[in-house]
Amino acid sequence: MNKAGHVSFGVALAAAGLYMLPEVLVAGEIAAMIGSAAIASLLPDLDHKTSTASNWIQLPHAYRQLAKGASLTLLAGALLAWWMGQFPIALSLAGVGALAFGLSKLRNVVLLVLGMILLLLFAQLHTHWLLALAGVALVIMPFLRHRGLIHAPEFALFLSVGMYYFAREQGAMIQAAACGFTFGWWSHLLGDALGKEGISLWLWSRARLALRIVENGSRSEWMVAKLCNGVSVALLVFYGVNNG
Ligand SMILES: [Zn+2]
Repeated sequence: MNKAGHVSFGVALAAAGLYMLPEVLVAGEIAAMIGSAAIASLLPDLDHKTSTASNWIQLPHAYRQLAKGASLTLLAGALLAWWMGQFPIALSLAGVGALAFGLSKLRNVVLLVLGMILLLLFAQLHTHWLLALAGVALVIMPFLRHRGLIHAPEFALFLSVGMYYFAREQGAMIQAAACGFTFGWWSHLLGDALGKEGISLWLWSRARLALRIVENGSRSEWMVAKLCNGVSVALLVFYGVNNG
């Protein structure tokens, strides 16, 4: 599935999920749950270098290429200056070159820094282990293959359990957002399972679910997205009317 398909599917699943909750949510909580599901429906594709989620945290392709070219040129200049004995110039060029290299790999830098912040928060504040799980996932993300660990049902299960125990100690708004996040995350896996690549277990990769019903970017995906949007609107309106 592509971006539109995943978001529509995630929102529809979260809208259906509203009916499974033991408590009635108010408008703000519904918005938090649906919004969170929409974002989470795209997040597993952070393990893909050029997915929508990855593009949120990196420069456009042309600028990445430009930064890469600039970094190589600057580093070559730094080597030349070093060879000529111009050490301050060499250091400056190397510094700016490293910065340009970081910009060309901004996705990796953001994932690593965010992950390390979460791990530090976990270590310093002894907060919930969900933070450690998210931190480790973000730190190792640049080294993982697409549709590997991050797309595995086992990881989704850990994440869901973490979300549940974390949210239990929080207010209603966070609980709604955590619930939406969980629905959104699973919706992504289900959406991918509808395609021909499918998803597989992490521990036993031969156990693969690929239903081959919806091809990426196909007309059937467009129809599923439209259907999900219709279902979401109907479910939300009915929920609103039913619960005042
Ligand atoms: Zn995916």
